Amino acid sequence: MEIFYTSKELKERLSEIKVRNKMVGFVPTMGSLHSGHGTLISRARTGSDVVVLSIYVNPTQFDNQHDFKTYPNAIQADLDLARSLGVDVVFAPKTEDIYEGVPNADSVDYGDLTGAFEGAKRKGHFDGVVAIVRRLFQIIKPEKAFFGEKDLQQLAVIEALCKREFAQLEIVRCPLIRDIDGLALSSRNVRLNQKERLVALELHRTLNRLKAAVNRSIEGSVTLEAARRALDSLDGLELEYLAIIDAKSFEEVGEEKWNEGHAVIAAQVGSVRLIDNLFMG
Ligand code: AMP
Repeated sequence: MEIFYTSKELKERLSEIKVRNKMVGFVPTMGSLHSGHGTLISRARTGSDVVVLSIYVNPTQFDNQHDFKTYPNAIQADLDLARSLGVDVVFAPKTEDIYEGVPNADSVDYGDLTGAFEGAKRKGHFDGVVAIVRRLFQIIKPEKAFFGEKDLQQLAVIEALCKREFAQLEIVRCPLIRDIDGLALSSRNVRLNQKERLVALELHRTLNRLKAAVNRSIEGSVTLEAARRALDSLDGLELEYLAIIDAKSFEEVGEEKWNEGHAVIAAQVGSVRLIDNLFMG
């Protein structure tokens, strides 16, 4: 496995690789890797000749400086995992290299896709996501890029970006991976204490209950409003949103079409902001 810390050296190496007609599969991450990232890497490994993994905590996508400063870092363990999963090339750049000066991100407006839910709650978040993903795509020029459905709205934003600017690039959707207790895997989960983790489990339980209700497999109906109220009544959990949306447009879907939508949820548990989602069909 080769590791590059500058875009110049990486580009030089990749141009040698591309001369040999190798198909590059790219997995962008912020590090602190877990099995969710592992699934993306494994999918990239089977679907590409050369797997490039980036590890970079992108400052422009954080609306909360405390979250940015305390974002977990586990570079040695990340490199070990990457090697064990067959990654060929790791790119771990510095901010000066990526942003060539003060980090900044142009404003992006894809309607509800960038303006609703995560876009509304985390001002400028998708500006930063688009800025870093665009920059990494320009440097790496992959044939395929792998993203997780854990960040469902981000995936839709990246697909919209590709449609506009990288039409040849295939975006591969990878399933959301959960821990054994059902909590969606996230690098931030290490910041939950034992009590907070128990509270955090209510996110996926709520999604499961909603799905059961939508499919009428449980008696009576659990409405969105009732689910919101139940979450609001919990100590240590602050609900940001719970809605059923169309996963492509991120517009809310009417009750008659809930079984075609995804329930999306975001909540603050202790100092950790968590998101999760589940297909309702
Ligand atoms: P991050 O390092 O959190 O920026 O995530 C990098 C990539 O891994 C993104 O495409 C995420 O959607 C994906 N990812 C993170 N957590 C999970 C998970 N639990 N299941 C599937 N994909 C995930």
